[in-house]
Amino acid sequence: MSELNLILLGPPGSGKGTQGERLQDDFRLPYYATGDILRAAVRDGTELGETAKEFMDRGDLVPDEVIIGVIGERVEAPDAADGFILDGFPRTVGQAEALGAEMDELGRGVTAVVLFDVDDDEVVRRLGGRRTCVKNGHIFHVEFDPPKHEGVCDICGSRLIVRDDDKPDVIRNRLDQYHEKTKPLVSYYSDQGLLKRVDGKLEPEEVGNRIRALLATLKMEEEL
Ligand SMILES: [Zn+2]
Repeated sequence: MSELNLILLGPPGSGKGTQGERLQDDFRLPYYATGDILRAAVRDGTELGETAKEFMDRGDLVPDEVIIGVIGERVEAPDAADGFILDGFPRTVGQAEALGAEMDELGRGVTAVVLFDVDDDEVVRRLGGRRTCVKNGHIFHVEFDPPKHEGVCDICGSRLIVRDDDKPDVIRNRLDQYHEKTKPLVSYYSDQGLLKRVDGKLEPEEVGNRIRALLATLKMEEEL
């Protein structure tokens, strides 16, 4: 394929991060998670990073145009010449349109948008089962990676707690917000024929295989 410009879409706990890192290794493409990019821009002290920092220091949300600018810098960077993997951006149709305009200007396009389908109950099961040690932040899972003694960290012996972020009603609230924002985005990319659904409930290995298979299909179609 000439370029592989991928967007990963899915709720928290859907395995996007895991697959993003695998794709990065498999295809030697930069993997950009929005939070990381913003932090990197701030750290590098770029002009946009300075602007983003002002908002972050005040505890305000970083406005769209700043985020879009930061993403744009990354997409244009030499290491993204063969493609990139975006995670956490775009989040809204407005951001998707801005990214589309940016890509048009560069004579490039989005190759595919991979949507990780995982139902809400499964997300609550995955995130809600996490237990974090109060002292050092070691993470366990009541179902997938239980500590030897309930409520006690195997590594440092501290007490294990449910972080606020991992409380079921907080997770449900994040999911509600995700669905509200993502639905229009799903239709937007679906209308453009770019949306590819992947069953995120499968084992990570199988999810990875399916993504590689769909990318192989896209490559064949391109060559026809
Ligand atoms: Zn610990």
